[in-house]
Amino acid sequence: MSVYQLQIGEINCAVLQEGVVKMTAEDVIARYPNAEPDAIAAAIAAQPPSGSLNLLYLQSAGSHILVDVGFGETPGPPDMGGVLRGLTSLGLSAADIDIIHLTHFHGDHISGLVDADGATAYPNARYVTTRSEWNEWMARWKASDAARDRHRLQLISSIAERVSFVAPGEEIAPGVEVVNLEGHTLGHSGLLIESKGERLFHVVDILHQAFQLARPDWHFGLDSDGALAERVRRQTLGRCADENILTLFYHLDFPGLGRVGRDGEVFAWKPVN
Ligand SMILES: [Zn+2]
Repeated sequence: MSVYQLQIGEINCAVLQEGVVKMTAEDVIARYPNAEPDAIAAAIAAQPPSGSLNLLYLQSAGSHILVDVGFGETPGPPDMGGVLRGLTSLGLSAADIDIIHLTHFHGDHISGLVDADGATAYPNARYVTTRSEWNEWMARWKASDAARDRHRLQLISSIAERVSFVAPGEEIAPGVEVVNLEGHTLGHSGLLIESKGERLFHVVDILHQAFQLARPDWHFGLDSDGALAERVRRQTLGRCADENILTLFYHLDFPGLGRVGRDGEVFAWKPVN
């Protein structure tokens, strides 16, 4: 369990590491269908793949906010559940969380909505997500007989009464604005946090490995719309670089924080150390 605390103006922030998903070279190669396997192999020989899950916690104007929930106590990769331990180390518990922003409905972001017994893991939270995210997955899951999809349909349905939709540009708390990052999923969203002239941009899953900064044309195999995801990836990385914004990625090596630089037509990653 690792916790990285930072302050953005008057907003207290912490990156809580849920765990690290172990991946072989073959696992990574299989995730990038439009890249040459040898090129991916060379990229990960230069820098080992990252499988971290970096969750953002925020405290703004008295609200405790969590961005995604990881796997929690539910079955998943080994050694998950760091977020709950991280909250404890901050003097908080799951019951203190008021608002949960669900960036998108992939399993590594939503599974921990329930505890090991299937009861709601965050009893006092309300949830925000985008309408397009909801619509994409409700349609896909309802059309599927796969056990995993039935499970996720049930999981999201179990919180339906406490979900409200937010549109890009709206704030979920003072200084915490929703940003459209569609493409990875159809309603994938991030957050731009701003207070007293300081900013943090949580870009979530616009990419999954640091090598995609240098190769934004390499599509991630689980993107709902690979071409749209690439366009949004290039646009968003360009904005992070041009505005020199402190940037957070959900899956890069913990804490997943750093700055994006331009390198000709592509980009470079400068992690905080
Ligand atoms: Zn993810």
